[in-house]
Amino acid sequence: MKEFKGIAASDGIAIASAFRLTEPDLSFKKRSITDASDEIKRLYAAIDVSKDELLTIQQRTLEDLGSSEAEVFKAHGAILSDPELLNRIKSTIEKEKVNAEYALTKVTDGYIKIFNSMTDNEYIRQRSSDIRDVTKRVLSHLLRVPLVDPALIHHKVIIIAHDLTPSDTAQFVPSYVLGIVSDMGGRTSHSAIMSRSLEIPAVVGFKGRLADIKNGDTVIVDGSTGNVIVNPTEAQTDEYTQKQADYRQRKSKLADFKHQMTSSSDGKHPIIAANIGTLDDLDGAIENGAEGIGLFRTEFLYMDSNHLPTEDEQFNVYKTVLQKMDKKPVIIRTADIGGDKDLPYLDVPKEANPFLGYRAIRMSLDKPDIFRTQVRALLRASSFGNLSVMFPMITTINELKKAKNIFNQERIKLIREKVRVKPVKIGIMVEVPAAAILADQFANEVDFMSIGTNDLIQYIMAADRGNRMVSYLYQPYNPAVLRMIKHIIDACHDNNLPAYMCGEMAGDQTAIPILVGMGLNEFSMSASSILKSRALIKRLDSREMVTLANKAVTMASASEEVTAFVHQATNNVQ
Ligand code: PEP
Ligand code: MG
Repeated sequence: MKEFKGIAASDGIAIASAFRLTEPDLSFKKRSITDASDEIKRLYAAIDVSKDELLTIQQRTLEDLGSSEAEVFKAHGAILSDPELLNRIKSTIEKEKVNAEYALTKVTDGYIKIFNSMTDNEYIRQRSSDIRDVTKRVLSHLLRVPLVDPALIHHKVIIIAHDLTPSDTAQFVPSYVLGIVSDMGGRTSHSAIMSRSLEIPAVVGFKGRLADIKNGDTVIVDGSTGNVIVNPTEAQTDEYTQKQADYRQRKSKLADFKHQMTSSSDGKHPIIAANIGTLDDLDGAIENGAEGIGLFRTEFLYMDSNHLPTEDEQFNVYKTVLQKMDKKPVIIRTADIGGDKDLPYLDVPKEANPFLGYRAIRMSLDKPDIFRTQVRALLRASSFGNLSVMFPMITTINELKKAKNIFNQERIKLIREKVRVKPVKIGIMVEVPAAAILADQFANEVDFMSIGTNDLIQYIMAADRGNRMVSYLYQPYNPAVLRMIKHIIDACHDNNLPAYMCGEMAGDQTAIPILVGMGLNEFSMSASSILKSRALIKRLDSREMVTLANKAVTMASASEEVTAFVHQATNNVQ
């Protein structure tokens, strides 16, 4: 038995066997060969197994996730049947007398380069990421290094990973992936946020302490406390099975709050909305009684695809969200690509500080074709519900004006094309300190602001939100953060604008009393936090919370002091 303590990232308790998700080492050396026909045989054998494997994945993906996801694997199979590609690899082996691994990579790298340079042909460019994936699969068979396909997990497991990308997490089937444990990441890293949306218990930030866990070990994950137990004793298994039952019971009691309007004990009605990244998340949001969508992270549409989503593809998703929310307010954020959300098919140079780099609106304004496609899709969808749009990572007024300009130009074009568009409210994410400080000036340019605390905190405290080494500095209740938030909310209210929050702090049970006291108008959070937050707000008197918030911002530097103070002050109600 071994016990570990990590960062609690997604509530709930899971017990199952470990499944290690490791990035395979596909490195190889260039070798000279003497018998080309043997090498070609080896190549074709690897291609045949890859094709069989792709058929299986295609079938399973079709059953579990749907036809559009399965199409990707069909396209991969088609690449491996392309006679021109195969002939080129074959003749490289014959002419250069080199090993199959080298010939395969040389030829496919050549294709990828050419495709990436054809910037005016989107369809062709999309094929380069398919070729990259297919090359990896064939290489894995040539080198006999197994690839792990998260979509293929078909028994109940706890995933043990060094790092998890949001797209790995998106492929998990929640009925099989019962828990997640990872070395990297903090509570606000995007894979942690996604595990909350999928309601998969998760503990992160183990910094390399998971190396000893083997496939098949029994693992207990307590996503509420951050405890992970490997090969537990019988007594521990019993204890956690009981805790799991208690947790489920508490959760089912909260179901009473599903159809209630959010209301404080003195009759204030802040809105509790949900953050979503996919249509699956939307079902979770509706299931948990969201009063709106406060943040749709549209970059997940781009990340779940192997090509830039077309205008029609995006339009269909936005329209579905608006229709399913049935006139409830929906805020869709334009793509926030960059930071920890990479797009393999978009050739963006690696950066030393991606969170301070080429990201979100910065990229959108630099690649206006991609941005305009998204804006058109949003405007076309506007007539199907109650849509607001916001821009991420706005730092200067000039950026906002440029983004609004493009928005208006596309609106005019659509109206000229006789497409129905409804008025859309425009807002910004306030997540960069420069914008927060100038909130009063931004107020003249927008209809609402939404505070993105995940980024705002990392920039105020100069502490990378995914870096475990500095996670002690990631302090939502630090008075420096609280004062900044109060400043933004006050600036909104002084200018008759509503103030929203869509960072993870909005669903934080210690922060909520303070935010109610500051008069926040909308709390947007992971679906799994909605009901407990609604239950909490129902027990709070907003007038008492004003006093509490005013006191919290004047406290000394320690976050602990604020936490202890809030818990003490709200003890009778929490
Ligand atoms: C935030 O920064 O608080 C936010 C909601 O955006 P994201 O987590 O996608 O960066
Ligand atoms: Mg952000």
